[in-house]
Amino acid sequence: MDWPLISKSASAARCPANLVDYGEAYGSFTWEAARRQLAGLPHGSGLNIAHEAVDRHVLDGHGDRVALRWIAKERSTRNYRYSELAELSNRFASALETLGIGPGQRLFTLLGRVPELYVTALGTWKRGAVFCPLFSAFGPAPVKARMLIAEPKVLVTTRRLYERKIAPIRGELPFLKHVILVGGGEGGHDFDALIAAASPRFTIAATDPEALAILHFTSGTTGRPKGAMHVHGAIIAHRATARFALDLRGDDIFWCTADPGWVTGTSYGIIGPLSLGCTVIADEEEFDAERWYRTLEEEKVSVWYTAPTAIRMLMKAGADLPKRFDLSALRFIASVGEPLNPEAVVWGEQALGLPIHDNWWQTETGGIMISNFASMDIKPGSMGRPVPGIEAAIVERTDAGLRILSEPDHQGELALRADWPSMFRGYLKEEERYRKCFADGWYLSGDLAKRDADGYFWFVGRADDVIKSAGHLIGPFEVESTLMEHPAVAEAGVIGVPDPVAGEVVKAFVALNASYGESEELRKELLAHARKRLGPAVAPRLIDFRSSLPRTRSGKIMRRLLRARELGLPEGDTSTLEGAE
Ligand code: ATP
Ligand code: MG
Repeated sequence: MDWPLISKSASAARCPANLVDYGEAYGSFTWEAARRQLAGLPHGSGLNIAHEAVDRHVLDGHGDRVALRWIAKERSTRNYRYSELAELSNRFASALETLGIGPGQRLFTLLGRVPELYVTALGTWKRGAVFCPLFSAFGPAPVKARMLIAEPKVLVTTRRLYERKIAPIRGELPFLKHVILVGGGEGGHDFDALIAAASPRFTIAATDPEALAILHFTSGTTGRPKGAMHVHGAIIAHRATARFALDLRGDDIFWCTADPGWVTGTSYGIIGPLSLGCTVIADEEEFDAERWYRTLEEEKVSVWYTAPTAIRMLMKAGADLPKRFDLSALRFIASVGEPLNPEAVVWGEQALGLPIHDNWWQTETGGIMISNFASMDIKPGSMGRPVPGIEAAIVERTDAGLRILSEPDHQGELALRADWPSMFRGYLKEEERYRKCFADGWYLSGDLAKRDADGYFWFVGRADDVIKSAGHLIGPFEVESTLMEHPAVAEAGVIGVPDPVAGEVVKAFVALNASYGESEELRKELLAHARKRLGPAVAPRLIDFRSSLPRTRSGKIMRRLLRARELGLPEGDTSTLEGAE
């Protein structure tokens, strides 16, 4: 099936988009102009994320606006106005100063989605220290590994998480000077007491836009996670891309479902939307289809940013469920993190009344790079076009340097012209690995893609995941998407397995929707469906059923693990595997 163009997105029909004319916006945009949209610290003393995200709005007279609306597990809610966040983060910054924590020093959080996480992030930036959020579901091993790399001076966590994950290894963390416990308890400072005793006034020191602000570890999908370092000036890109790619504006109620332990949850769960004066929704609870629809309805979410895993789970829960909720406040839905199957884009239109706008970026890029904009036709399955300010190309690495493949529809590595404000400034303690990401002034993403004649980019797969079969280069995404078109298939992961004749053949691992059972007949049906759609050279030769697929904690299918297990190879780093302790 070739998916039809979605030419009149209901999103743009509901409200004129921030980016009206792509060509015009792309042609006229400059990062200097985007920088001028920010206030800057008083007296020209630089650029600080926390000032732009909260203090600026208070100074502009918008302190009463709700910045954060927090939903507790049991569904009670609490609002934090911009003025409150400004004061609480001042207090946290004052407390850090009292504890002797200075600019450039690293602070880790190991927290669920609780208000203190947001206060900590903002206070850390005010103090000029470096914020590094860890995903709270990490077990002791991944926590320790990241601690040993980054050697934080401060950790903000809870007593329960501390006892389970830190106390047993505390002796191995001599660099860790202070533990701050949300809710109090043995082993650290009490968060509330600490900030109650701290000054509510804090003057942000001059901040160089190039000063480090954030350390984010990558998801570990392809191997050992890397610590990508970002600077205060990244907010220029967070704000501009939140406007263009997420179509955000100040009166939006915005829900980014990513945990701040991942880059999406920080760049777009905190910085981008707050810099625009939005109200950010944070839900402490994990995914639950009914709860999520209820949140969209009750909170009147207008812009929703989520991930393909979540969308696939909502699809699994059926198209009838959303019909029970009033989703009329929703104006725009976007997705990131993994390829978004065309099936899912179209499902959005049918079940939610809005297509899902895919966008592409990485921990390293710090912000959205390629996107389906509200005003632009959607080609389901495409990641969209580069955001204004970003030059993207398809390239080939050769011994003589980079070759730019400017003809349409050529498959190659997706590269971005360095640099843009949110580009990472290094991998912590891995200078060599960082240098290898660049060639001839381009950042090389490690992902394979194609660009069509209209300038739309299409994800093919990670360079490591690509399958070479009988002279063809096969991207797993296309095969997985085709399998997902079959009503029985909930998810698919595709790898290459060695074959004496073809070099490799395609093998698929498939998880079925609840109403389908495994059978030889279904296997044959899926093989035939794929062969008909993809042709025999690309279609899987083999299909195995699985109740679920291995994924990272951030929800990405780990094809390298499917391959290792299939071939009996060492599994490599599995500390980021969902369920790993
Ligand atoms: P690691 O680098 O440690 O292996 P990771 O690459 O999964 O982990 P992230 O930075 O969280 O870590 O993810 C970025 C990657 O996710 C991209 O390089 C790409 O492979 C994939 N990705 C993100 N968004 C999309 C998208 N819209 N379509 C296809 N792939 C996407
Ligand atoms: Mg990566």
